[in-house]
Amino acid sequence: MTRTFKNIETKLIHTGEMHPRPAGAINLPIFQSSTFESDPDNRDYGAQRYMRLSNTPNHTVLHAKLAALENAEAALVAASGMAAISTALLTVLSAGDHLLALGGAYGGTHSFITHDLPTFGISFDFIDGNAPETWAALLRPNTKAIITESITNPLLQVPDLEAVVAFAQQHGLVSLIDNTFPSPVNFRPPEWGFDLSLHSATKYLNGHSDIVAGAIIGKKSLVKKIHAKLNHLGGSLDTHACYLLYRGMKTLSVRMRHHNESTPKIAEFLAAHPKIKKVNYPGLESHPHHERAKKLFDGFGGMLSFEVQGGTDAAAKLVERVTLPVSAPSLGGVETLITRPATTSHAGMSPAERAALGISDSLVRYSVGLEATEDLIADLEQALAGI
Ligand code: PLP
Repeated sequence: MTRTFKNIETKLIHTGEMHPRPAGAINLPIFQSSTFESDPDNRDYGAQRYMRLSNTPNHTVLHAKLAALENAEAALVAASGMAAISTALLTVLSAGDHLLALGGAYGGTHSFITHDLPTFGISFDFIDGNAPETWAALLRPNTKAIITESITNPLLQVPDLEAVVAFAQQHGLVSLIDNTFPSPVNFRPPEWGFDLSLHSATKYLNGHSDIVAGAIIGKKSLVKKIHAKLNHLGGSLDTHACYLLYRGMKTLSVRMRHHNESTPKIAEFLAAHPKIKKVNYPGLESHPHHERAKKLFDGFGGMLSFEVQGGTDAAAKLVERVTLPVSAPSLGGVETLITRPATTSHAGMSPAERAALGISDSLVRYSVGLEATEDLIADLEQALAGI
């Protein structure tokens, strides 16, 4: 019998665990086997255990946990966040269909939509996440889906998510959301009516910067179709990586609690600093979407970005002068990371495209890790003093 639990902390530890535990092991062992002994009389291909079909015990336990975390019907892991996003979009869209997509989405998603979807005969329009009144004009008879992000990268905006769900329901569109930044601890899109919630599990879900993984969470009928597509496209997660995701996820709620407490203090320090022009963090009362974020989210998370006085040179100098954060792309790990999106996540865009999205070359993105808040602030203070 599957046990159900009310609180996310307990779900992370106990949901989906095998009973009895294999050999009594507290941690689900890694089933490092590409194939499994099968019943020669069973002709159902999907019933054969094979790693690419994402049906080993390591996959099944993760699927149960991930679905429970967002109070959804089903979940599926994938080989990366991009495997989750691309496979989901290629499942809900076919040749001749049209997609409405949030402008200013994560660079990889943006590139997939603009460069790859057209090669499959799928067209798109970008929407302004804060102007729902403009979306109807972009609808076409063949519009099938709408995709947004919970919090945008790197500007930390919170689109009008309730309007996205209402619009999708009104027009019969599949609603998808990239929920990487808040993680299921801070936001659970299925509770707000989204059909599919997508994650780069590389980030907070895993939390230790040691794997690349993705997750798709949502309606059972849709997840089942995406699973079939993933079986064909082959972007399934290896069981060794499944294990690392499983191990990392167990501490998700503790890590997110730290991020939720530490990051507002760093954001406030930066906002009050004379050498900082602007801080983007939805937890700040001055953030244009603060009220919306407060309503939707249980915490404001560990990501912030800011502009330094003095432009690109000053920003580059700051990144050089900090001593605790590592200068690297990615986010959501135990260690603080710092990056300039113009040179990493959004380097694939032209300067004009970046400027249109409000991403200046002097923007610095900061992923707050689990170091002591006061140490991170002291480090930023000394770095700012020298620029
Ligand atoms: N979505 C967001 C918001 C991201 O930041 C990233 C990666 O940085 C992705 C998706 C892609 O995830 P992955 O690198 O695991 O493929």
